[in-house]
Amino acid sequence: MKVFDEKKGNIFKILSEAISEGIVIVNDKHEIVTSNDAGDRMFGYEHGELIGKNLSVLIPQEYRSNHHVQVNEFMENSDPRQMGHGRDLYGKRKDGSTFPVEAGLNPFEVYGSKYVMALVTDISVRKQQELQIRELNNELELKIEKRTQALKESIIELEKEVVKRKDAEDKIKESLRKERELGELKTKFLSLVSHEFKTPLSGILTSATLVEKYKETSQQDKREKHLKTIQNKVKYLNNILNDFLSIERLESGRETYKYSTFPLSKVVNEVIYNANMLLKEGQQINYPKNIDGIQVYFDEKILELSLTNLINNAIKYSPENTSIDVIVLPQKDAMSIKIIDQGIGIPAKEQKFIFNRYFRAENALLNQGTGIGLNIVKSHLNNIGGTIIFESEENKGSAFTITFPSKIPKS
Ligand code: ADP
Repeated sequence: MKVFDEKKGNIFKILSEAISEGIVIVNDKHEIVTSNDAGDRMFGYEHGELIGKNLSVLIPQEYRSNHHVQVNEFMENSDPRQMGHGRDLYGKRKDGSTFPVEAGLNPFEVYGSKYVMALVTDISVRKQQELQIRELNNELELKIEKRTQALKESIIELEKEVVKRKDAEDKIKESLRKERELGELKTKFLSLVSHEFKTPLSGILTSATLVEKYKETSQQDKREKHLKTIQNKVKYLNNILNDFLSIERLESGRETYKYSTFPLSKVVNEVIYNANMLLKEGQQINYPKNIDGIQVYFDEKILELSLTNLINNAIKYSPENTSIDVIVLPQKDAMSIKIIDQGIGIPAKEQKFIFNRYFRAENALLNQGTGIGLNIVKSHLNNIGGTIIFESEENKGSAFTITFPSKIPKS
């Protein structure tokens, strides 16, 4: 081979030994015509041992069939190119072991003969590193996935915790609110006691002192009058106390209702009997006498408390010589009772506040009162499915109606 004569051959040798890639040159019959030291070492051959061998000795069996065609095509087209096109390439050592390579093919022609110079790089180390990097990446991804999962779980736990805390906070706020309201109630009670109890108590004291003075039998009338005053005032104080106890029970959620079947007349008569003692000069209560047969199924105490409040208000807020009408309106599975008076009425602009606790209309302030009666009647009725409504006109009178469910259970 002229091209590889001694002189030029030496230059080729010097150049080819200086580079680290393996160089293998084949002719158009795929015979190796020369190789450099790096190439020999890479494939495990002695110096010069590859010369004359077919290129296929450097290619693992499974890649060979295709390879033949490729090299031939390549010789025809003759563009320098990288082999593999994204596929992994392998070289085969003399001992049969394989290793990953990268190969660039460079065709050339000398004196009419075609050759291909293959520049081969052993990429075992790089592949190994790539593998390690891939493994590390996988490990890292796995760790990240695990951490993300753990993080997600922690977030869910945290969210649950936040909800729990919010609930606990709401409960604390609610009980604080209740506590504050009960505190306010107690303060209010103390100031009311000092205001509202003073007048009746001094009235009681005066009457009691006077009773003592009437010693004669003929003075029985006067004694009775003062004893009645004492009874009235004690009843009044007792009502206020009952109202307060009712609020306290309502506020603390301790109120329970006791249902029973009883004749309506029992409660109406009792309330009216007590109310009669409070009547002013010329006042009278008209109430139905024919209700003896009416049975109701309700909480007796609540009915008594409601009627007492409404009838006592009708008396208190009406002048002398007026009448108060109590009307019973039985309905299917319910009972309504209406109390109509000809009193001072409630100013239109204040009517919307009338059920607010402690609210008292301006025209009522000369009368004694606490502003809690209507509020608790409404709360109780609300709690047990009843209602309270009213109509009122200032200086004409008012009409309050309570309605409560009353379905007598079949025994
Ligand atoms: P109190 O009578 O102790 O003030 P209530 O809660 O029973 O408290 O009544 C609240 C307010 O409603 C009264 O202060 C008064 O202004 C008004 N009111 C209630 N009933 C009547 C009535 N029959 N006529 C006129 N005003 C009334």
